[in-house]
Amino acid sequence: MHTLTIGRGQIGFSSAHFVYSETFREPLHGHNYQVGVSVQGSPGPDRFVMNFLELKKITRELVRELDHRFLLPERNTLISVAKKVFEGKPVVELRCAYGEVYVLPSEGVCPLPVQDTTVEDISSYLCFRLKEALKRRSGLKLVKVEVCESPGFCASTSETLEPS
Ligand SMILES: [Zn+2]
Repeated sequence: MHTLTIGRGQIGFSSAHFVYSETFREPLHGHNYQVGVSVQGSPGPDRFVMNFLELKKITRELVRELDHRFLLPERNTLISVAKKVFEGKPVVELRCAYGEVYVLPSEGVCPLPVQDTTVEDISSYLCFRLKEALKRRSGLKLVKVEVCESPGFCASTSETLEPS
C-alpha cells in the first residue's frame, strides 16, 4: 500500500464564513484556506497509485466552487435562510437565532450540506465529494482531505473507498 499526497500550498481557496452554535458565535470574517489531499492504494501496472496532476485537477475543481464565496452551512438550525430580491438583484437573507442579520448577493453564496463551516465540517464535505469523484477507480482504498484555515490550524477527514 502506498500513499500519494498533494501537500498544503498547492491547492487553496479564499472564503468568508462564520461559525454559529449555541456556545460559540463568530462575526463574519474570511480565511485563505489551504487544502491537502492524500489517496492510499496499490500502484497499478504503470507503478502509479494515481497521477498527481489528475488528483490535483479534480480537487481544484471541487475547491473552485467555494472560492471567493460565503460558505453557508445549510444544516445549521440556528440560521434561517430566505431567498429574496433586493433592488432587482437576487439576494440571500440570513437571520440568526441571536439577532444577527446578513444580506448577501446570491451568486456570492456557496451552500454546503454541513451543520457548521468549521474546518472539520469543510474537510468532511470535500472528502465526501472527492470520494464520489474517485470511487470508480480501481486500486484506491482511502482518500483523506486536510483543510487549514490558517497555518497550523487544520482538520482532516478520511473515507474508505469500497472495491467496485
Ligand atoms: Zn473562521
